Amino acid sequence: MKTDSSTAIKIKDLHYKYKSDWLGKPFHALKGINLEVFEGESFGFLGHNGAGKTTTIKLLLGLTTITSGSIKIFGKDPKDPSARRSVGYLPEQPYFYDHLTVQEIMDMYATLAGIKKDFRQSAIKEALEMVKVSARAKSPMRSLSKGLTQRVAMAQAIVGSPKLLILDEPFSGLDPIGRREFADLMVELKKRGTTIFMSSHILSDVEFLCDRASIMAYGELKGVYQLRDIPQMSSGSYELIIREFDGDLRDIKSKAAECVIQEKLIRLTFTDRKTAEQVLTEALAMGIAIESFRFQQGTLEDLFVELVKFEEAKHQ
Ligand code: ATP
Repeated sequence: MKTDSSTAIKIKDLHYKYKSDWLGKPFHALKGINLEVFEGESFGFLGHNGAGKTTTIKLLLGLTTITSGSIKIFGKDPKDPSARRSVGYLPEQPYFYDHLTVQEIMDMYATLAGIKKDFRQSAIKEALEMVKVSARAKSPMRSLSKGLTQRVAMAQAIVGSPKLLILDEPFSGLDPIGRREFADLMVELKKRGTTIFMSSHILSDVEFLCDRASIMAYGELKGVYQLRDIPQMSSGSYELIIREFDGDLRDIKSKAAECVIQEKLIRLTFTDRKTAEQVLTEALAMGIAIESFRFQQGTLEDLFVELVKFEEAKHQ
């Protein structure tokens, strides 16, 4: 049985209201969130822009006071100093004093993480090695590229070996190599038992890295999913790509759920196999050149787009 302390995060009926939005009116940003994240799992916290992810993260970190409901971090209030020490945080837009060197920044965060003086230098060395910025330890922060700054931001988050790592858009500013290295680092941290809670708009990374994910829309949590179940949850789609054709394509196009023209190619998407095969047969009979025909399994992105579009329509 899961107890409160084997649950890394427990959120119950959480509401949060900003005192005023840009029109000067109170804004109900979180409308009754319920969520449990278990110790040792990696969890993707997803939602459209403005859904309420950063607001939730600020509350998880105890940076602001909830309007109603409750949050527990390993069974404790997020403002409790021992709960805070168990959490490492990578903000969406990290800001560092740019006249300080990487080493000075890390000294500051290692001290804040409560690492005793005798162990501080070895902890910093290990964190910088893990994010591959050791060679720049003496560089002032202002001389670092966006990607390197993001690596330092990750180093300060992991330096205290936190039990829970909260990452707000961790891949922001990273090139494809940096993204892959961060993904490898997260896999390694998870192996060591770290619970990872991350918000990201790069859904393929979430699909690859996380055990479960939730999707939030307009301040409400719309679903929590086991990522391994996603391909079976959606029936998938059939994609037929044909070459540009002089004849009448109206009939074929009208049978497709979606039709996109890309230069000399036409991509047709079908939701059912029978229609897709029927159109393929018709296209062959008409002498249309077929570029490809394939089945696509449902992805997290399909689920996200479908759910958010549905909610968007309700809010218009
Ligand atoms: P993004 O993906 O763009 O970072 P998000 O899901 O993190 O979005 P939040 O930053 O949590 O979204 O914002 C949730 C809602 O609260 C938005 O509608 C936003 O405009 C509003 N909001 C955020 N901060 C404030 C504030 N200080 N005062 C008033 N409203 C705010």
